[in-house]
Order: sequence, then C-alpha cells, then structure tokens
Amino acid sequence: MNRDRLLERFLRYIAIDTMAQGDAEGYPSSPGQLELGRLLLGELQAMGLADAQQDEHGIVTATLPGRNTASDTPPVVALCSHLDTSPETSGANIKPQIIEKYAGGDIVLPGDTSKVITVDANPELKELEGRTLITTDGTTLLGADDKGGVAIIMETVQSLLENPELPHCPLRIVFTCDEEIGHGVDKLSLEKIGATVCYTLDGQGSSEIDVETFSADQAVVTFHGVNIHPAIAKGRMVNAIRAVGDFLCRLPRDILSPESTDQRDGFLHPYDLAGSGVGQMKLKVLLRDFDAAQLDGLAKRVRDAADATIKEFPGLKIDVEIQRQYRNMAEGLLNEPRAVAHAEEALKRLGRSGKQTIVRGGTDGSRLTEMGLPTPNLSAGGHTFHSALEWACLDEMVESVEWLLKLAEVWGEDKG
Ligand SMILES: [Zn+2]
Repeated sequence: MNRDRLLERFLRYIAIDTMAQGDAEGYPSSPGQLELGRLLLGELQAMGLADAQQDEHGIVTATLPGRNTASDTPPVVALCSHLDTSPETSGANIKPQIIEKYAGGDIVLPGDTSKVITVDANPELKELEGRTLITTDGTTLLGADDKGGVAIIMETVQSLLENPELPHCPLRIVFTCDEEIGHGVDKLSLEKIGATVCYTLDGQGSSEIDVETFSADQAVVTFHGVNIHPAIAKGRMVNAIRAVGDFLCRLPRDILSPESTDQRDGFLHPYDLAGSGVGQMKLKVLLRDFDAAQLDGLAKRVRDAADATIKEFPGLKIDVEIQRQYRNMAEGLLNEPRAVAHAEEALKRLGRSGKQTIVRGGTDGSRLTEMGLPTPNLSAGGHTFHSALEWACLDEMVESVEWLLKLAEVWGEDKG
C-alpha cells in the first residue's frame, strides 16, 4: 500500500462537498454525492474493475475477483462506506491542516482559534505523538466520516491489484449515499450487494470492531392547539408551544437522556421542534436502547407524558406516532460468527490486538444486518465526527488498509 497516495486520495475526496440535506426531495439529497461517486467510478474503471457502475440513485458498486482462494466458490466480502457527510456542520471548502510528527498537546485550529482539539476531550491523542494528524481549519467538518473509509477501501483495491502475489477473496465495493440522514441503505438490496458478509469502514480510531449498535425508534409528537387573536383569546386559545413546554418537563432529564447516560444505558432524546406556532407544533424524540425490548417502555413514557399534558390543556390534541428506525446488529452477527472472528484473525496476523466495541448510535450495518447481511463496523482512522473539531490520523488509516488486506486473505482461505 502507498501511504502518500492514501493521503492524496483522502484530500481529493474531502475537496468535494457532499453534505447530506435532510429536507431535500431527491435521492441522493445533494449533488456533490453524485460528483464524488462519478470520480470514484472513474478511478475504479481506471484500475480495471470491469463491472464498476454508479446507479440512478448515485450508489457506486464494483467487483474485484478473488485470487488463489481455497474454494472454487469462495465467500464474497463487501466493503462499504458512505459518500455523504453530516448536515450538522458545513462540508464546503474544507481547508485541511496536516500535522506531521504531532508533538502532543492541544491543537488550536487556525481558521477559528476558539476551536481547540484538546487532549482532555480526545485522550487518544496521548497515544499518537509522532504520528500524522489531519484536522480542519475550524470552520468546517473534515469529512473523515466517511471519506476516510472511502479512501481506505480504494487504496486496498489498488494495493491488491498491484501485488498479484497476495491471495484474497472476491471483494464487492459499495459506496452509499445519505447515510447521515438515515437513508444509507434505502436504495440497496442484498442482491445488489451480492456478498456473504459486509464490513462498513465507518468507525473511529484503529483496530476496533463495532459489534453492537443501538436499537432505535423515533416518536413524532404533534401538538394541535387552537390559534386565535390574543385580544380575544380568553377561554378559547390553546397554545401548542406552551403544551410542548409542559410535555418536555415531563420527560426525564436526570436519567434516560443522552446528557445523563453512557455505556449501555438507553435514552429519550427530543432533538427537533418545528411548526406554525400556537396552532401546531411537531416534536421529534429519539428512542434508543441496546435492548430492543426496552423501546416499548420508552414509547410508553412518551405517551404517558402526552396524556398528562392533554389533561392540563383542555382542547389540546396530541398525536404520537412511533416510527421504526433500526435494530441492534448483535443478534444478526450471531448468525454469522465468521464476520467478527475473521476480522480478529486478520488483526492477529498483523500482531495487533483488536477491541470489540459498541456504538451508541446506528450504522448502515445495523440495517444491513437486520436485512440478513451480517455487517460489523471497522475503524477508519477518524475522530470526533460531525464537528469542526473532527480529525483523522493518517497512520490509523494506513493500519485500516493493512487490516483489510489481511481480512481479504483470511476470507480467501475460507472454504465457505
Ligand atoms: Zn459515518
């Protein structure tokens, strides 16, 4: 593999603004995702991947046939990353700062010196002195989530092509769109992916295997008030905004909130409020737990709070709609123990110790696993996603390429 080329790739991909737009009509939600997809398609074709294509939804796929495999019909392994970046921070005109031989300590970002990547908030920096870090200038996100993963997969493919002595399983390359707004696998089917197992390259740091995600639902709570001119409102107005305030006070804050939980504890998270005002307000509340059975209890808390609020506001109506989002991948991974075992074997061959981790969120793999394709998530060298304080470590990205090369070797030895 070629470290400089990996960095060049990463910088080339983050130069294209692919921020997902939550309120867009079409798919993908932003034209930059199509542009990056076209660039990758061209690069895959230039490498000689004959079936490379970008479909009408912007999803890019390609196949690298296996070599010297143990079986005539070896397992096919898919490698997946997403092209979009989070809508929470701008992804336009990213000005990356490359810090060679990081000397330790906090990193002040030059474009906005109020933005500081601190060792306190990023204790993993202590292990990375002497390494190459990539940050933003403080005015945008970096896009390591998930162009780090894209660059790692592309470099892996090119490395395998350049080193014909390396045995490996067949690989399916899959680049998805709109993952950050929950639509990463909307336009995917298991037939289209065509693999035994899939790995998303969308995790933090190095050598971590995410084997569990949250199970997730969303409550959409609509408050129907009665609007009337305040001059004649006595006994007639029902203010949906006041009702929202009352409702929110009834949700727990010291427990079962993102602010008060970590590790394996779930939460209720009101995160979006919109509406016309007094007449109607719509509140979205995330329900999260590692145990899907707990989601019903969280939904009941939302409904109970709504009932209590209705009692306080005669004339108020509240609709509570629970929308299913995704489920913990742990259960699906049990059906295909090789998914995690082979990833650990690959690390072992590299003399590295891996770590199984849990994600307090979801990945494309949560839904793919639920659909029947076991899909753990692997480290891709990024840190502090979705913010201007996002950064990546080039050495960790190199480690991810090495990991994938070994992983393809291990799967190539699998007799299926
Ligand atoms: Zn991501």
